[in-house]
Amino acid sequence: MTYSEDVITMHQANVIPTYAPGMVLVKGSGAKVWDADGREYLDFLAGISVLNVGHCHPSVVKAISDQAGKLMHVSNLYYNELQPKLAQKLISLSMDGKCFFCNSGAEANESLIKLARLWGSKQDRFEIVSMTNSFHGRTLAALAATGQTKYQVGFEPMPPGFKYAEFNDLESVKATVSDKTAAVLVEAVQGEGGIVPADTDFMQGVRQLCDEQGILMLCDEVQCGMGRTGRWFGFQNYDVVPDAFSIAKALGNGFPIGAIVAGPKLSDVFQPGKHASTFGGTPLASAAALATIDVIEQEGLVARAGEKSALFRKGLEEIASKHERVSSIRGLGLMLGIVLDRPAKRLVEIMLEKGLISIATADVVARFLPPLIISDEDIEAALEITEASLKAWEAEE
Ligand SMILES: *Cc1c(COP(=O)(O)O)cnc(C)c1O
Repeated sequence: MTYSEDVITMHQANVIPTYAPGMVLVKGSGAKVWDADGREYLDFLAGISVLNVGHCHPSVVKAISDQAGKLMHVSNLYYNELQPKLAQKLISLSMDGKCFFCNSGAEANESLIKLARLWGSKQDRFEIVSMTNSFHGRTLAALAATGQTKYQVGFEPMPPGFKYAEFNDLESVKATVSDKTAAVLVEAVQGEGGIVPADTDFMQGVRQLCDEQGILMLCDEVQCGMGRTGRWFGFQNYDVVPDAFSIAKALGNGFPIGAIVAGPKLSDVFQPGKHASTFGGTPLASAAALATIDVIEQEGLVARAGEKSALFRKGLEEIASKHERVSSIRGLGLMLGIVLDRPAKRLVEIMLEKGLISIATADVVARFLPPLIISDEDIEAALEITEASLKAWEAEE
């Protein structure tokens, strides 16, 4: 048995199979990872939009190890010096308000939903209107907000108070909002839903509708935030400001941390005792996030995401024009998808065999989320593998 096979056997015997993982990865650096057999891969998934500054960025590694030796955790019963610094930083990058810290995307969305309900409780407004094909996480409330029944099957009944409108269809949102609606929840770019960017008219229309109705606009920035789309946050591409938004994934570049930023209307709705999270915004998590943000700023990665997107997209479009199975290329910034005329799974497998990590989503989309530090050479290499994989795939059947 190889070492990889050993690990896989032990995993399958002992870990609940919520995932069906591929190879055993043991090391990462920048945009590359290595498996236990020493094979190198180009990581165009980046932990599903987590490693925005790349694997093991030395500044993030140093911040985490320094802080780990100083103070890891104190509980939120005491102040820690890094949490307010991180909150101030996130506000300065996004909008006026205050932050709440937690550990994951689902927990951040759960916090948004609870915040919206508490805000709406005086007017008996509790419903959350979210979008078809959205993804908001796996806790029961986040799952109820997720507008894809495939994730909900077997877990019914879903908690009440969730309604769905068609993404990118303002009339549908208008028809779904009622006098019970507290908030409309939307992703600027649907990631799990197939890398589908919102239309500008739609985002601005939702903002206007929420203003007219006196309800909240909430954005889920868990996948599209932190520089991924060429702006710090996805909604900034649309010239709208939500009432609150959630972040997680790339916030700690692999160190688990989630957060919500809540605007002035919401920033003092939660009072002591109303909501909490043991690990939210620990010194260690805050140090990781502060270091990550610092790297993004120092290395100009937000603007770089836009530049590298143009290069990558152009290459993908060229490939698309030569291959009938490719219907279109879509996305925003370094969130790009190849839309195929059939399931993407096999193509993703072939790309992996050739050393390129991506993921199939919404059945027919091969999704790329490279780290924002990605180089021109790595983009060229990924394009070559993509083209070779399409050819190999077409030759199969
Ligand atoms: C990944 C994701 C989540 C859930 O985040 P977890 O950290 O896995 O709980 C929520 N919303 C979006 C848009 C995501 O991509």
